[in-house]
Amino acid sequence: MKTLLYNGVVVVDGKTAYDGGILIDGEVIAEVMKEGDPKFEVYQQDKDVEFIDVKGSYIMPGLIDIHIHGADGVDFEIASQEAINQASCNLAKDGVTGFVASLATMSHEEMIKVLNVYAKVEDCVDGAHFLGLHAEGPYLSREYKAIMVEEHLRAPSYKELDEMIEASDNRIKIMTIAPELDGMMEFIEYGTKRNIAMMIGHSAADSKTATKAFQHGAVGFTHLYNAMSQHLHRQPGVVTSAFINKDAYAELIADGFHVDPEVILMTYRCKGADNIVLITDAMLGKGLPDGEFTFSGKHCIKEGNSVTVIETGRRAGSAVGLDYIVRTMAEVTGCSVQELVQMASVNPSKVAKVNKVKGTLEVGKDADICVMNKDYYNQMTYVQGKKVF
Ligand SMILES: [Zn+2]
Repeated sequence: MKTLLYNGVVVVDGKTAYDGGILIDGEVIAEVMKEGDPKFEVYQQDKDVEFIDVKGSYIMPGLIDIHIHGADGVDFEIASQEAINQASCNLAKDGVTGFVASLATMSHEEMIKVLNVYAKVEDCVDGAHFLGLHAEGPYLSREYKAIMVEEHLRAPSYKELDEMIEASDNRIKIMTIAPELDGMMEFIEYGTKRNIAMMIGHSAADSKTATKAFQHGAVGFTHLYNAMSQHLHRQPGVVTSAFINKDAYAELIADGFHVDPEVILMTYRCKGADNIVLITDAMLGKGLPDGEFTFSGKHCIKEGNSVTVIETGRRAGSAVGLDYIVRTMAEVTGCSVQELVQMASVNPSKVAKVNKVKGTLEVGKDADICVMNKDYYNQMTYVQGKKVF
């Protein structure tokens, strides 16, 4: 069975968009066509093709969230096939077709147990595709631990990392590290060699140390501005380095409260869409009614889109979907739909190293597609050609 989505605006990648449609054949994209393409008529004769009029909506590469801790009551630290599936279905509603599950710090023994479960989780579940794991720690700064459990923070260990990679069956795609820790530059090189995107975050480094991390293979910044040394004019920090290294990726929780709209606008103007990765950093409260939850061992409260630790009032991830982040980004910056695709599909696909098969609408790539109206509300989601929402 083939599906033809037509009468839309096809957003091919971060640069190109035109009126047209797209043909899905099985799990992959078979055609990307401009309006008026004679092939439309050929397919109209084909009884094997299901036609869907998207009525002028955007036909976009599915969104990819590379920093998310859970959704719909599921905490990714308590892993099971069933739980991942449940969260994955919740994400698909937002137009997300792929996600990297983030794990906060825990003891090495607990981590190995969790990773063992993920090693057996199927990639393609009933909703968004499980693309791998993000180890948010444990080699992080004490000063900028945020809501990480302090007793689990420690010095980098090659032995632990090898064991983690093995336990997960090579599914760790991203690791957040603090470059100022002893021996971290060599550790970044090692992680990079093992095919992990090493990201700077939860770090007290000065600007020079953060910049040095790039020379050793780091690729970007974890939730820029949050949990890191800031840009002070006589004490430049990690944030300063994010602007010096213009080509480095910066994850941005563009929800309007983790990062002020003015700072979102500044980041967009200075780093550009090519270097921003939109993320949610969402936790299990996403998709649930307001209430109290335990997250990263802390007693948290969700009120609307905001999640805070009850005891300290500190932010504890978010409860928004990536579609909400996309809408906020569009509203705050006035950026184009292509740029949104660049920041929410193309760039995250590159960081997670799935850009050969995902992230853009090209013939032969996975049919991971979302259809959004002009206000960026999701209407339909396809994951590997299967309609999941
Ligand atoms: Zn996180």
